[in-house]
Amino acid sequence: MNIVILTGAGVSAESGLGTFRDVDGLWTKYRIEDVATPEAFARDPDFVQDFYNLRRRNCAEATPNAAHFALARLEAELEGEVLIVTQNVDDLHERAGSKRLIHMHGELLKSLCASCEDRLPLKGEMPTSPCQKCGGGPLRPDVVWFGEMPYRMEEIWNALRMADLFVSIGTSGNVYPAAAFAQDAGRAGADTLELNLEPSDGASDFADARYGKATDIVPVWVEEVLSAS
Ligand code: NAD
Repeated sequence: MNIVILTGAGVSAESGLGTFRDVDGLWTKYRIEDVATPEAFARDPDFVQDFYNLRRRNCAEATPNAAHFALARLEAELEGEVLIVTQNVDDLHERAGSKRLIHMHGELLKSLCASCEDRLPLKGEMPTSPCQKCGGGPLRPDVVWFGEMPYRMEEIWNALRMADLFVSIGTSGNVYPAAAFAQDAGRAGADTLELNLEPSDGASDFADARYGKATDIVPVWVEEVLSAS
């Protein structure tokens, strides 16, 4: 069996990293257009860097939860292929042990040189020095902002075409192109399953759904898939 799994902010919610819709979450204190667009970075780079430095600190304090660990177990134990495509910029899937993973919206823990596109691992604050490789810059977070193209889309669409099962976990389904993955995979013949706290905006695109907290429903689903395989 060949499974492609899309994850969103809901899978990391119980690790303490707020979703975009949490009533008192980080995102309610910032507007997208002030921190998550290339124009915002051009206008006020310090403000944008402060926001991502804060998110990086939050990420360092968070730990993977039972849903992350269950997905890593699925990959390790399933006779078949598991690919996780995540919209999350945190590193909780990696820390739980997932290996086949695409960060389609980039990674908090990398810097990207805006001039030469060199990427470097980054643990703490974004350095204010020029790029080590080209001497230019500026260095920016390696995250995909609104108006920019998500990463590795050809690879993702190919994987969706080959999938027997597409599962969407903890995502509201209102940001494209990820919001169209259920339809893309379904058209290519895959079964489709939504695992989310509540029906997402794209719920009608899925053949099947289970609703509840990720730490409850993901481990149960993984156990069922492994027992049936
Ligand atoms: P989201 O916040 O839009 O949706 C999170 C989903 O997770 C919701 O459907 C919610 O019901 C569900 N959820 C919450 N807690 C859960 C739990 N414990 N278990 C299971 N599900 C739970 O986040 P998203 O869908 O990942 O957003 C997609 C992309 O859109 C993001 O990667 C981001 O780039 C972008 N986005 C940005 C903003 C912003 O910048 N303000 C806002 C929305 C989306």
